[in-house]
Amino acid sequence: MRTRITLACTVCQQRNYDTTKDKKNHPDRMETNKYCRFCKKHTLHKETK
Ligand SMILES: [Zn+2]
Repeated sequence: MRTRITLACTVCQQRNYDTTKDKKNHPDRMETNKYCRFCKKHTLHKETK
């Protein structure tokens, strides 16, 4: 069972990534380092509701 989530840059708040996650593996908010094209660097991206 996978759930659709959106990952938002914690620096500029842009929602850069749509992805899915397995709620069994990630019951809490996911945090991932990803490239933000607005910040032009890798930043921490958090799952948004
Ligand atoms: Zn950003």
